[in-house]
Amino acid sequence: MGSLPTELHRIVVRRTPSGIPVVDDFAREARPLPMLSDGEVLVRNAYLSVDPSTRIRLRGEESDYMTPLLPGDPIDGFAVGYVAASRDPAIVEGTAVRHYGGWSDWAVVRGGTGWRDAQSVPVSDSRHLYDYLGALGPSGLTAWGGLLKVGLAQSRDCLYVSAATGAVGQIVVELGRRHCGRVVASAGSDEKVAQLISMGVDGAFNHRTEGVERGLARVAPTGLDLYFDNVGGDHLSSALRSMNAGGRVVLCGLVSRYSESTLSAPDLDLSPAIFKGLRMEGFLARNLAPYEAEFRDEVGGLMDTGALQPQYTMVEGLDSAPAALARMLLGDTRGKTLVAL
Ligand code: NDP
Repeated sequence: MGSLPTELHRIVVRRTPSGIPVVDDFAREARPLPMLSDGEVLVRNAYLSVDPSTRIRLRGEESDYMTPLLPGDPIDGFAVGYVAASRDPAIVEGTAVRHYGGWSDWAVVRGGTGWRDAQSVPVSDSRHLYDYLGALGPSGLTAWGGLLKVGLAQSRDCLYVSAATGAVGQIVVELGRRHCGRVVASAGSDEKVAQLISMGVDGAFNHRTEGVERGLARVAPTGLDLYFDNVGGDHLSSALRSMNAGGRVVLCGLVSRYSESTLSAPDLDLSPAIFKGLRMEGFLARNLAPYEAEFRDEVGGLMDTGALQPQYTMVEGLDSAPAALARMLLGDTRGKTLVAL
């Protein structure tokens, strides 16, 4: 064990953002490194996760399912790194772990088997440490579980995926190509649309230039059977109008609303769900944790053979994390957005 630091550096909220967060909404803070208690490990972080849910929490609103992030609070969330000191007998020094210690260079976290506990992750030539934040981590589990366990994808389905080149969307597209008859997708630039076509989707459109209604009419003229909704708002309204009777909608996220004054979309028309007998189901990735082994078998297996090559946008250094969050929300990233330390 090399010499350990006496302090850690972390990113905290400086003020509640209005709209897309800006760098000045955050601050870097130095803190004395806490002493380890029994059951805790000290982790030198290598990669930090950048997640849309952080923007929801920065709204500062109390809810039953997410703790708000208020001025002064450190940004918590998933990170991966190597254990530098351990008082958990199950985790030895040098172990690669994923944990929920957040945007910090070092973290003191508790080992265990819970969703947010520090857990060892098996790294190999095809399964990198950062994959446990992306394709083999919460983003991948969200994609896999949302599509297969919530959406009950079937081979006869025409699947539509929004925000389809993002961390979750990209994996949904890859899995959808294997489980569904037809996959159509949308993203926010022509370059992203070209990427989706090269990934083998049956049709793709740029939601910013073509619009969702027209895009769906062009790429899915016979209608949708399954919609994996990452965006909410106009994407959800238009998809509902394009659904076939008896279709399913997986409510994964509503990123189009996270920086708005209210999460609810004022003009969302749910009437097609009634008239067409649609099933709409929301979910949280943490509730899919019991499927983790099944998920890693399928997605990890595809990565081992090279059939799935997850994409990442990596920025360097702890101070880059706030700008990376803004870039991701603005659509200026591809695949999983990470901070490399
Ligand atoms: P992404 O990597 O997909 O990044 C977000 C993307 O959303 C942007 O890059 C942008 O892509 C798109 N976007 C942003 N604003 C808009 C808008 N107004 N209209 C349309 N698209 C927009 O993020 P993730 O893959 O991490 O997350 C995707 C979704 O999944 C989010 O809604 C997130 O909250 C949700 N999620 C839900 C989980 C759960 O447990 N239910 C767990 C993890 C994520 P583009 O350029 O294509 O517009």
